[in-house]
Amino acid sequence: MTDTAPDLDRLRGGTPPRNHDARTIAALTSNPGCARRGVMDAAGVDKDSVARHLGFASPFGQSQFAITRGNVFEAQVKAEGCAELITLLRDRLGLAVPEVAYDDLEVVAGNEGRELRHARTRRLIARALESGEGTLFDHPLLRLDIAGQAAYLEPDVIAFQFEGRFHIIEIKSFAVIDGQAEPEQVAAAARQSAVYVLALRRLMGELGHDPGRVSHEVFLVCPENFSNRPTATPLDVRPQLAVLERQLARLTRIDTILDALPDDLSFEPGEDLAEAVRAVDARYAPDCMASCEMAFYCRDEARACGATGALGRSVRDDLGGVDSVGTALALADGSLDPSADLAETAAQLRTAARLRSEALDGAA
Ligand code: SF4
Repeated sequence: MTDTAPDLDRLRGGTPPRNHDARTIAALTSNPGCARRGVMDAAGVDKDSVARHLGFASPFGQSQFAITRGNVFEAQVKAEGCAELITLLRDRLGLAVPEVAYDDLEVVAGNEGRELRHARTRRLIARALESGEGTLFDHPLLRLDIAGQAAYLEPDVIAFQFEGRFHIIEIKSFAVIDGQAEPEQVAAAARQSAVYVLALRRLMGELGHDPGRVSHEVFLVCPENFSNRPTATPLDVRPQLAVLERQLARLTRIDTILDALPDDLSFEPGEDLAEAVRAVDARYAPDCMASCEMAFYCRDEARACGATGALGRSVRDDLGGVDSVGTALALADGSLDPSADLAETAAQLRTAARLRSEALDGAA
């Protein structure tokens, strides 16, 4: 347990931590400067529940139909010890997969505890690394350090060992039609797969092996041409890995944020919830709408206080340290004297205001 663990437990108000999955980790790297998201995610707070209690529920997640279709397709591909998947790897990708061993790591002797499952994943992967035995590891429970906290990754992939290297196999239910899939869905799958590749590489390192034994090439398995017949496509996730590693390294250290927060802060539902949320700084930007359950609340808050971030990340970046629209306007019309660090931004704002005024006068 880390030093910050008791603080993070208190933040959740006694509720169990929400598990991270590859989607949430890929998403949290999209706004690494947001302390609010950093704290809530590190503590495993159910942000969806918090947003609903605040009256800002967001329509996040897949439809029940998509979830059911995905589960049916995955069960089909994995049936009978992944028979269909092995045929695909042999036929479509030309991999000479020899005799196949299949281990399902989802449950350990009827126990679904995460520590036990992670320990079994470590044990079997370690054995496979030493002996070369073991081909398919279904539902490996991996761990990744997020902002100083260990997050367990809920598994929905297969780790596949072939000629001494491991590959991640990601099964998705979106269709590949005439060899093409929706680029946004492929990009999202690549980002999620990169999270698994990174977690498996970290595990290799912990086990004293070369992380490079986990390939950057993952296999994406999807239904083909409006049918339920699976097809496999190799996907190079090096660009996504680079972004992920950079963003995770930049994530604000959670203990630094916790030090600045009230000792009794808790996100437990109740009348103090809104105050607790407001106590942690947010950095809202319009792209939060695609990646965070708190987006509707934070957007409302940002608009109410005239935050420059609500106008877009590029506007906030262009305005440097000017956080509010009111301050930007006052600097532009000269009614506010800038501090030394804002002198250059203020000069640019005054120039922009003068040009705008001249353009409007000219138009009139
Ligand atoms: S929606 Fe709010 S909490 Fe989530 S990343 Fe954006 S600013 Fe942070």
